[in-house]
Amino acid sequence: MKTFNCDLHIHGSFAGGVSKYMRIPVIAEQARLKGLEVVTTGDVQHANWLQHLKQNLVESSNGIFQDHNQTIHFLLQTEIEDNQRLHHLIFLPDFSHAQEFRDKTKKFGILDCSMCGRPKLRLNAEQIAEITLDSGGIIGPAHAFTPYTGLFSKHDSIAKAYDNMAKHISFLELGLSADSDLADRIASNHQYTFLSNSDSHSPWPHRIGREFNRIQLKEPSFKELKKALQEKTEKRIVLNAGLDPREGKYHETACNQCFFHYTPKDAIQFKWQCPSCKGQIKKGVRDRILELADTEKKAPSYRPPYLHLIPLAEIIQQGVGVENVLAKKVQSKWKDWIERFENEINILVDVPEQEILEFDKTIGGFILAFRNERVHYLPGGGGDYGKPLICLSQEEFESKKNELQEKQNQKNRFKGQKTLGQF
Ligand SMILES: [Zn+2]
Ligand SMILES: [Zn+2]
Repeated sequence: MKTFNCDLHIHGSFAGGVSKYMRIPVIAEQARLKGLEVVTTGDVQHANWLQHLKQNLVESSNGIFQDHNQTIHFLLQTEIEDNQRLHHLIFLPDFSHAQEFRDKTKKFGILDCSMCGRPKLRLNAEQIAEITLDSGGIIGPAHAFTPYTGLFSKHDSIAKAYDNMAKHISFLELGLSADSDLADRIASNHQYTFLSNSDSHSPWPHRIGREFNRIQLKEPSFKELKKALQEKTEKRIVLNAGLDPREGKYHETACNQCFFHYTPKDAIQFKWQCPSCKGQIKKGVRDRILELADTEKKAPSYRPPYLHLIPLAEIIQQGVGVENVLAKKVQSKWKDWIERFENEINILVDVPEQEILEFDKTIGGFILAFRNERVHYLPGGGGDYGKPLICLSQEEFESKKNELQEKQNQKNRFKGQKTLGQF
C-alpha cells in the first residue's frame, strides 16, 4: 500500500466560470508541480469535455487513467445539481459507466445536460443516488455545509436528504469553509469519511490542490478509492488538508453584496436583509454547523488529522509584499522554490525546516511561520474569501491581534452596536 495525494473535485474548461487552461495536459503538469498524484476529471457529463477526456487520457489498466505523458493519475468524476439546488459529488468507474449514467439522467436534465459542466436534474438526492449506484458509481454531498448548494443548507442530516439510499452514502465533502473539527460537531457525521477537495476552476497551484486528501491505496483506481471511502476501520485516509475554514468565502454570516458580517441573531432581526445595502445576508458555514451541533465528543478514531494550508504563492506574496498572487515577482520566486524542492506540498508539509531556511531566509521565514501557526485570519463571508496574515515572530503575532480586531470590527459594523429600531 502506498499513500497518494488526491484532489477529487475539479471542473473542466467547458463548465461556467472555469479557466480556459483547465485542460488535461495543463492540469496534469500543474497538479504534478503542486505535489498531487491523483486528480479527478470533473464534468464527465459534458459531451465536449468527455470527448476531450477520451482524447487525452489512456486507461492503463482496469479503471486507472493517465494523461499521455503519464504525469499523474485521473479518476472519472462529475458534480450534479438536484431539484433543491443541492450539489452532489459523483465518482464513476470508467467511460462506459459514465455513458450509462449520462443515458439514465439525460431525460431529467433541466437544460440539455450533455452540454452542462454541472448538470441540473429534475431529481432529488435519493433519486440521483439510486441512478449513481445503478451505474456502478459512488456519491456523497459536495461542499456539504455551503449556503445555497450544500446539503446542510436544506437538511439537518445526510440521512434525511438521501432517505432510502442513505445507507449507501460513505463520505461527505467538507468544502473550503469547514474542516473536520467543525463537521464532527454534528454527531451523525461521525459515520462518514471526510473529503477535502479543491473544487478548483483553474489549474494553477494556488487553486488546484488547495485542499487535498492523502489516501492509502494499493493502486490509484476507482475500486481502491471506493474501498478507502467505505472501509473506515482500515484508516485509509491518513490526512485531510486544506484552507483554514476562516479563509473560506462562506465561513461567517455576512451580506452577499457589501460583505458586512452579522451575528446569526442580528441576521434574524434584520430578516436576512442587509440594513446597509439591502443585499441578502447568507448564513455562514460556521453558524449553520453551530446551529446543528449536538456533540462535544471527540471525532471517531478513524478520523485523520486535518492540516490547515495556505497555498505557497500566497505565502510568497506576503513575503515579497505585493497584492496580486499572479504578480511576476511572486510567480518567479514560486518557480525557484519548486525547482529546488520538486513540488509545493513537499515545501508546505514535508521538507525539514533547516533546508527551507538555508534556501531562502526571507520567504523561508514566512513558510515556517505558517507551519508554526503564527497566522491571523480575517474571516470570509457572504462570498468574500477570508484573508490570512502571517506573522514572522511570536511578538508580531501578539501585537497584530489588536490591529486585526480593529479591521474585523469595521466589517462587523452592526454587531451589538445598533438595534433594529435605530435603522
Ligand atoms: Zn458545487
Ligand atoms: Zn450589505
